[in-house]
Amino acid sequence: MKNLDLKIIETKTALSKSRIPGIDYTINPYFGCEFGCSYCYADFMTRFSKNYSNFFTNLKWGEFLGVKINIHEKLKEEISRLESKISLFPDKKVKKPNVWLSIVTDPYQPAEKKFMLTRKCLEVLLKFQYPTGILTRSPLVLRDVDLFVEFEDIEVGVSITTDNDDIRKIFEPKAPSIKSRIKTLEGLKQKNIKTFAFIGPILPMDAVNLSREIDGLVDYVLVDRMNYIWKTEKIYRMNSLGFAMRDEYFTAVSEEILKEFSSKGIEVEILF
Ligand code: SF4
Repeated sequence: MKNLDLKIIETKTALSKSRIPGIDYTINPYFGCEFGCSYCYADFMTRFSKNYSNFFTNLKWGEFLGVKINIHEKLKEEISRLESKISLFPDKKVKKPNVWLSIVTDPYQPAEKKFMLTRKCLEVLLKFQYPTGILTRSPLVLRDVDLFVEFEDIEVGVSITTDNDDIRKIFEPKAPSIKSRIKTLEGLKQKNIKTFAFIGPILPMDAVNLSREIDGLVDYVLVDRMNYIWKTEKIYRMNSLGFAMRDEYFTAVSEEILKEFSSKGIEVEILF
């Protein structure tokens, strides 16, 4: 990809302990994210990372990518150690921790097509049958359906931030189209994979239309507002979209989504 500084990195660890309720560990096979969404919170989190200060100083979010080329090998070592600990207590029914890909990168961004690190990590998680969750906005996730169907416990989420592709182009121009994301959910559902839509951050949208477009394709829905408005305020204002960065707008949209899905018995969790 043009304007992308890509570096191969050897990582020391694969699993990161999560502070998110309900998630035990996360795996981020890449450092940075090619999609470079304007609102991404991972942007400023990376500024404190050694990977940033050692390799990518002064590059903007979306312009750099660290490929953690050995992450699947580290994962195998780390899970083997976890398994040995579990085997010390054969009488105790120790629950396997769950693992999510990814929190501060997209596990199916374009580089994944070549490096296949997400796939290699999934192969390790599958071997040990660790409960796994995936969150992406890329149709490339469909490549790995053959692995998903072998898992005893897996769920795959697709981030959909609006129903309007013109709005998507304003806030996340390098990310896949909205239509392709809906198609992705369709492909996953056809294979009976447990799916969810992450409607967040709420961008300007027709909430009823979006809800109807994903109706029947998801097992549950998560909704979140735009956080860190300061990052995107200029974009809203330049495009005369100031109305959609107000608290009342996020509340109204989430209520509409809740109403649409609750009537169909689909659980909606509003995260703000
Ligand atoms: S796809 Fe996700 S991780 Fe990547 S830039 Fe967008 S919000 Fe951030």
